[in-house]
Amino acid sequence: MNAQNTKLEGAAKAPFYLPQGDECDIFAAAYQNSLPVLLKGPTGCGKTRFVAHMAATLGRPLYTVACHDDLSAADLIGRYLLKGGETVWVDGPLTRAVREGAICYLDEVVEARKDVTVVLHPLTDDRRILPIDRTGEELEAAPGFMLVASYNPGYQNILKTLKPSTRQRFVSMEFDFPAPEHEIPVVARESGLDEERVKPLVRLANKLRALKGQDLEEGVSTRLVVYAATLIAQGMSHDRAITAAMIEPLSDDADVKRGLRDLVTAIF
Ligand code: ADP
Repeated sequence: MNAQNTKLEGAAKAPFYLPQGDECDIFAAAYQNSLPVLLKGPTGCGKTRFVAHMAATLGRPLYTVACHDDLSAADLIGRYLLKGGETVWVDGPLTRAVREGAICYLDEVVEARKDVTVVLHPLTDDRRILPIDRTGEELEAAPGFMLVASYNPGYQNILKTLKPSTRQRFVSMEFDFPAPEHEIPVVARESGLDEERVKPLVRLANKLRALKGQDLEEGVSTRLVVYAATLIAQGMSHDRAITAAMIEPLSDDADVKRGLRDLVTAIF
């Protein structure tokens, strides 16, 4: 299976996350009440970091699955595998999380195949069960199990959107790129570049984000600003670092890239 599973033992030191509002309180309240959570927002704005931070803070193990268009329910639930001439059942990450009372984070859930949502429905209502057709089991989620999913509503793909019947099963929160007063300390901390040198990068990021929908499909993510700042902190020139981390990842079109570079010249 191609899903990427990450298990962090609970109670580990929480990864750094700078809250932008009351998202930590809402997540904690959802967890206490066994409610599933949906995070909506553009790629690279801090959703995965937020979930890792909350899982560690709440002392729960975390299974993260990066969903893709080939990911099926069996990838999440598990399958029979041949091991040394014997057929053995191997739990998928969702089943492990349900058994252990862990947090299961399905990143970009809309990318997954349709049969995945069918599996999520009985888990997201008050039954909290996971039927495993292949083994005949019907697992009741252990205390502490929490389902968290994310998606990016900005892609505007009518075929890849969550149906209301699925969306309405989650407590939902909207994420966006942090405001400059949050993004500057985040980028400085993540990259090691001092805040004064991060400021113009964040100003540039916001100018690039304003082009979303015109020349660019997506604005520059906080992740890319961290990359640029990291390269500069390592001694790379502004010009090269910004081109490699904040221009080239946004477009393949030579004219568009030239326009973006003009914005850079205006700021630096
Ligand atoms: P997403 O899951 O939304 O695609 P990530 O959680 O991977 O994005 O965020 C990308 C990077 O941005 C993180 O690795 C982290 O360096 C940084 N980041 C964004 N927002 C925050 C925040 N509020 N606190 C700490 N780091 C953040």
